Amino acid sequence: MTRADIGDIPTQNPCAQCGTPIAQPDWIEPGEGRVSYLWTCHACNYRFEAIAIFDESAVEYPPLAA
Ligand SMILES: [Zn+2]
Repeated sequence: MTRADIGDIPTQNPCAQCGTPIAQPDWIEPGEGRVSYLWTCHACNYRFEAIAIFDESAVEYPPLAA
């Protein structure tokens, strides 16, 4: 996994529970057209996931057959 594969890593994401900025995600899970980030707050130990969706690499689905 390289940085180019996942794009820019978000930083200083506020904790969903207490609002403390988290420097960087604990875990990054690249997917198709999206990346999942697992954040762990070191202030309150809360864990949450955020998903980034990339428009430029969005998959185009063919129209459904009638
Ligand atoms: Zn927190």
